[in-house]
Amino acid sequence: MQVRFWGVRGSIAVSGAEFLGAGGNTTCVEVVHDGHRIILDGGTGLQPLGASLGCPADATLLFTHVHWDHIQGVPFFAPAFHPDSHLTLIGAPGLRDALASQMRPPLFPITLDAFRAQLSFVEPRAEEDFEVGPFRVSTLQMPHPDGVVCYRIAAGGRSLVFATDVEHGEKLDRRLLDFAEGADLLIHDAQYTRAEYAGEQGPCRKGWGHSTWEQAVEAANRAEVGKLALFHHDPTRNDRALAVVESIAQHRHHGTFAAREGAVVAL
Ligand SMILES: [Zn+2]
Ligand SMILES: [Zn+2]
Repeated sequence: MQVRFWGVRGSIAVSGAEFLGAGGNTTCVEVVHDGHRIILDGGTGLQPLGASLGCPADATLLFTHVHWDHIQGVPFFAPAFHPDSHLTLIGAPGLRDALASQMRPPLFPITLDAFRAQLSFVEPRAEEDFEVGPFRVSTLQMPHPDGVVCYRIAAGGRSLVFATDVEHGEKLDRRLLDFAEGADLLIHDAQYTRAEYAGEQGPCRKGWGHSTWEQAVEAANRAEVGKLALFHHDPTRNDRALAVVESIAQHRHHGTFAAREGAVVAL
C-alpha cells in the first residue's frame, strides 16, 4: 500500500509562510494498492488530489464524518464532473444529505446534480467489515461531536488505521487501542498539546472532540503500531511549533512523524 497525504490540517484551511512546511489543506489522505484507490475524507486537500488524477477517474471515498473540514473539497473534486468517472462514497447515514446541503444556493451556486460521474452512496452497517477492491475495511465509532468513524484498511499483508477527530477523554479509549493493535501505520488526531487540552494555555478544549499529541504517542506505543502520523494539526500550529512537537514525540515513539502535505509512506 502507498499512502499519500493531501491535507493534514484540522478545523479550517490555513495559508501563510509559517504553514508551508506542513501545508494548509484540511483532511484528505490517498491510499493506493494494486491500482485501486481509497480516499480518506474530502477536506480541501481533495481538490489538488482530484487535479492530480485527471479525468475520468475511479475511486472510493471513505468519510469519517461530515464536519466542514472533512467535506469542503468535494464540490471541487474534478473527476466528479466527468461522466466516465466511477465514484463510491461511503460514510455514516446522512452522508448524501450533508454533501447536498453544502452544494445548494445560496451557499453554493450548483447542486450535487451537477456531478456527471457515476455516483453511488453506501452506508455500511455500524462496525461491520466490508471490502473495497483488494482492501479489507473495518470501522469503529468513536466519541466526537456528531460522531466519527475510524477506519482500519488492510491489503497486501499491511494495514493502516485512520483515527482523526477522536477524543479519548482522561484515559485512552481501550476500543481504539484494540482496533489499532499492530497496525503498520496509525494516523491519529493530534490537534492539541496536553496544556491546551487542559485549559492551561487558552480555553479548555475538553469536549471539543480531539486528542493531544501526547495521547497519540501513548496510543501508538500501547497498540504497538509501526509508524505514527500526528494528524489534524490545529490551525494555529505553525511549522516551527510542529517541528518541536515532532522531535519530542519521536523520542517517545521512534516511528512518529508529523503528517505533511505531499508526504508519501510505503507500507
Ligand atoms: Zn476535523
Ligand atoms: Zn470533526
